[in-house]
Amino acid sequence: MAHPLETRLTAKQIAPTAMRLLVLELLQRQTAAVSLADVEQQMEHADRITLHRTLKTFADKGLVHRIEDGSGAVKYALCEDACTPRQHHDLHVHFHCQRCQQTICLPDVAIPPIQVPAAFQVQDMGVVLKGLCDRCSAR
Ligand SMILES: [Zn+2]
Ligand SMILES: [Zn+2]
Repeated sequence: MAHPLETRLTAKQIAPTAMRLLVLELLQRQTAAVSLADVEQQMEHADRITLHRTLKTFADKGLVHRIEDGSGAVKYALCEDACTPRQHHDLHVHFHCQRCQQTICLPDVAIPPIQVPAAFQVQDMGVVLKGLCDRCSAR
């Protein structure tokens, strides 16, 4: 039987190479979104270009989504299983904590449809709320 990590990749039409399995395993362990630099720091033996390419493949195939939280670095988080390359952008709210600097997916907080004026075509959107996360606000 295939390993669950492998299945998660092949379900998104991603060939399970050793590097991709390692990066997926790392992503599954995170409690907050990670930047390329974060991944690089946790994967000592991989070079930045390979990691960047791996994350790009994951994003293109709908395995992870990109988050721009205003920190300057794009962050990545795993998508819900139902996410596909075409209908990709997990439309949920993200929360950036201004104290611990973590960016967290809030998948249960859906973004309501937003109407734009005629002739405007939305190609991407992201809602990032900023403030104190649950842990920081409890302190
Ligand atoms: Zn926090
Ligand atoms: Zn998210």
